[in-house]
This record gives sequence, C-alpha cells and structure tokens, in this order.
Amino acid sequence: MRYFSTNRNSGTVSFREAVLLGQPADKGLYFPDDISPLAGGFFDQLGELTNAEIALEVIRPFISGEIDSTALARICEETVDFEIPLVPITERISALELFHGPTLAFKDVGARFMSRVLGYFSSEADKKTVVLVATSGDTGGAVAAGFHGVEGVDVVILYPKGRVSRLQELQLTTLGGNVTALELDGTFDDCQAIAKQALADDDITSRARLTSANSINVARWLPQQFYYFFALKQWDGPPPVISVPSGNFGNLAAGMLAHVRGLPVRHFIAACNANDVVPRFLQTDRYEPMPSVATLSNAMDVGSPSNFVRIMELFNGDIGRLRHALSAESVSDEQTADAISSLLAENGYALDPHGAVGYRCLAHYLAEHPDERGFFLETAHAAKFDSVNEIIGKPVDIPASVQHLLSKTKQSIEVGNDYAQVREILLSKI
Ligand SMILES: *Cc1c(COP(=O)(O)O)cnc(C)c1O
Repeated sequence: MRYFSTNRNSGTVSFREAVLLGQPADKGLYFPDDISPLAGGFFDQLGELTNAEIALEVIRPFISGEIDSTALARICEETVDFEIPLVPITERISALELFHGPTLAFKDVGARFMSRVLGYFSSEADKKTVVLVATSGDTGGAVAAGFHGVEGVDVVILYPKGRVSRLQELQLTTLGGNVTALELDGTFDDCQAIAKQALADDDITSRARLTSANSINVARWLPQQFYYFFALKQWDGPPPVISVPSGNFGNLAAGMLAHVRGLPVRHFIAACNANDVVPRFLQTDRYEPMPSVATLSNAMDVGSPSNFVRIMELFNGDIGRLRHALSAESVSDEQTADAISSLLAENGYALDPHGAVGYRCLAHYLAEHPDERGFFLETAHAAKFDSVNEIIGKPVDIPASVQHLLSKTKQSIEVGNDYAQVREILLSKI
C-alpha cells in the first residue's frame, strides 16, 4: 500500500515510511491510496471470528507485506486482548465500551498497535526513535503505557497545564524510564502546534527518528477501525446509527473508513462539545478553525481538528454526499452534565463526559428518527474525570487496575508556551 499526502505536495510513501515519518513534509496527513471494500464473505463470517482475527483481516491490506504475517497476527492479538462490549442501555441505545484497556480509554487500541509496529520497525532502524505526542488528556497516558520500556524508543509527552484530570495526569507523569512529560503553559492546540513544529525541524529529524504518536499517525488511526467491526458482530437488526464523541476526529474518520469499506451503518453523528467547527461547517459550508474552548469533555477541546481532512478525502471533497452520511451536533456543558445525571438516575449507567456528549447527540437524533436504533462510543471510563464526581455528588468507583496510581508522585518538566524550550529538551534526548 502507498500513502499520499492530503496536501499533495509530498511524494507517496510505504506504510513503514508513513509510520516512521508520522507526517509528510508538506504538513498534510498520510492517506492510503487504495481503499478497497472488504469481501462480502468477511461480513457473513463476522460472528464466527475472534476479535484478533477480525483485526487482522481489517488491517492487512494497509500493510501489504511490510510486516510478516506471523508478527502482524501477534500484534493484532496483543492490541485487542481486552473486552470491547456493546452494552444495551435503553431500548434503542447501546454503548460501545472502549474503556476496558490499561488506561481506561479508547486510545489504548491505537497506541498499543502503534507501539508494537514501531518496535518492529525500529529494530531495523539506524537512528534512535523519539515519539513526540501532544495530548489533550487521554492520548498521553495510552501512548506512555504502550511504549513504556520499549527498547530504543524515547517518549516525550506535551500536555496542557491544568487542563487534564488528576487520574490522566498521574497516567502521564508517573511512568518514568523512557517517558518524559512536559507540562506546557497553554492549550492542547498550542501543544499540537509545537509538536508539528518539531516534526518539521531538520536539526532534530536529521539526528533522530522523530515521530508523532497522535492520531495523525496512520499506525494509530487505522486500527481504530477494529472496534466498529467488533460492534457490528454484537449488533442485531438493521444497520445502526453511530454517534462518535469527536475532538480531533480520528475516531470518526476511522469509522467512516470502515463504512466506505463495506461496514453497514445507517448514519454517523459527529458528537461535539462547544468546539463546533465541524457542526458549523455542515451547516454553512464554511470551515473555520478557531481557538479551542475548555469544556467538561476536555479530550475533545480541539479548535482545529486535524483528521477532518481524512473524512473529506473519503468523500472526495463532496459535501453533499458527506451530509448524507454524517450529521453533527454541538452540545453545551449543561446538556452534558444533564445527560450524566439523568442517565444515572434513570438507567443506573455512569457516563463519562465524552460518552455523555455522544449519548446526548444520539438520543436527540433518534427522537427525530423514531424507526432507528444505534449506539454511541463510550470513549473513556467515568472515573477518569473528577467532574463526574461533582455532577453526580459522589465518587465513581476507581477500577482496581489503576488504584496504584493514586499513591504515586507526579514528575514533569514545566515549559512555557513556545517552541524554543521544547526544542532544547528534544535535542538533549538525542
Ligand atoms: C481523544 C478522545 C476523544 C476524541 O477522539 P478524536 O479521535 O480526537 O475525535 C473522545 N473521547 C475521549 C475520552 C478521548 O480521549
């Protein structure tokens, strides 16, 4: 498989190059140049395949021989070795629970896949590999956990000071070893802009392999298709409406890619918080990135969603066709909090703020489409967010798997909101 740049000013590359480079020199995003439908037989058999077997079939065409098949099967197996259940909540709404992995959020899937792929490729690399990741909260922990202890790879995390939850910060800052956390005095967008600057800095990239582990990396993005197929395996009835809590739009772009490859889906919903660039775009045809605003669903506080260009690419830039497949809605913090408390009271289900945005948008859509049913992606565990405790007036039980973090001490380096300081730290690592 070859990958081209969505800006079309860089040459095409192999899967390996796309993973190691992270981003093309023209600052576009890598995109596969051949998206073929999966064979009809695959969908008929879905019920008999294990999740690892499904993952392998879904990802294989994108790698076409660049990882030997035994190694790839093993990577898939390790990536999805936790459960991803579709849990009915009301008569017409289910939750696809993506929070049963090590850091309690969906980003574990992409991060686990990418770390193993990078480990495979860097064993043949000549230079040290540095993974640079900007995080709005969940990515950093998932990437840090995925890469912790991987030989020959250093991880540098950039996170916005004061804008991640306590549990998230502990996940980012307590691993040590090959993981360094930089606490930046700014927003997630600032972190992302600085990461992009570093990736385009020749002084750094000539001395080390610098790669991003953000969802812009194809090795994080492509495996996010997996769980849409796992959901379908558990789904009964006509194609579902799927609501995806969206920030940087990697998750939704992966679902829509799966759909273009044949996954039966009735309709997609981009469920957004107050950062509403995409809902506005679908209404007005004008795409106007803005500074992000802070909300309860902080991992979705993105004013300039990188992966939306991939969705446009899937639809060849045809907004009319896109509108047919996708609706978008923006919900306020009040509506989010209301969804959390009312669903807990009525159905005993504890939503996290991101899932709550997804649930709210889906419930709204289904109210206007009475014959349809669907599910939303529950992208993280409610216990990760202190705000949920405040909304429901009591603490959410912290899962046993992360209890040990509570007694650890944060280790981070504070940096200002400019590139120079980050650059110096990166240069000192290589
Ligand atoms: C990252 C994240 C999102 C947003 O996903 P995108 O792929 O960036 O749209 C939603 N919910 C949670 C919990 C996240 O961590």
